[in-house]
Amino acid sequence: MTEKQLRQVWDRTSGHCHFCGDPVEFEKRGWKDGDLTGYWEVDHVIQKGKGGSKSVENCLAACTRCNRLRWHRQGEAVRELLFLGLIARDEIAKSTTTGKMLAQLREKRLAQNTLRRKSMRTTLLDMPNDEGEAV
Ligand SMILES: [Zn+2]
Repeated sequence: MTEKQLRQVWDRTSGHCHFCGDPVEFEKRGWKDGDLTGYWEVDHVIQKGKGGSKSVENCLAACTRCNRLRWHRQGEAVRELLFLGLIARDEIAKSTTTGKMLAQLREKRLAQNTLRRKSMRTTLLDMPNDEGEAV
């Protein structure tokens, strides 16, 4: 992908991860050891293997953390997450002390994500269009 196309992909979400809404910096691309804050990668909305194109229209910016969370967990790591998820779900269903805590944490996380998405949407709406008008 050319620098211009990368910029177009980055612009599509006004420089935010399309999964979590966190801001990403155009120059910080890919992976590095340590603090990944602001790092991003190109995510193909329809996977290439499933017929998705490589065009800008099929690509969105994803922070490296979200992208790796999604793509680099395979096999055993995915099973571990699912297994922990099943335990958590049972605890919540039984309303145990742990379950209540987990349910609260889940609500808190969902509320944070909603707020982030709302502020991202506001940012997008405030963006001037090509004519310099707010859209
Ligand atoms: Zn993200």
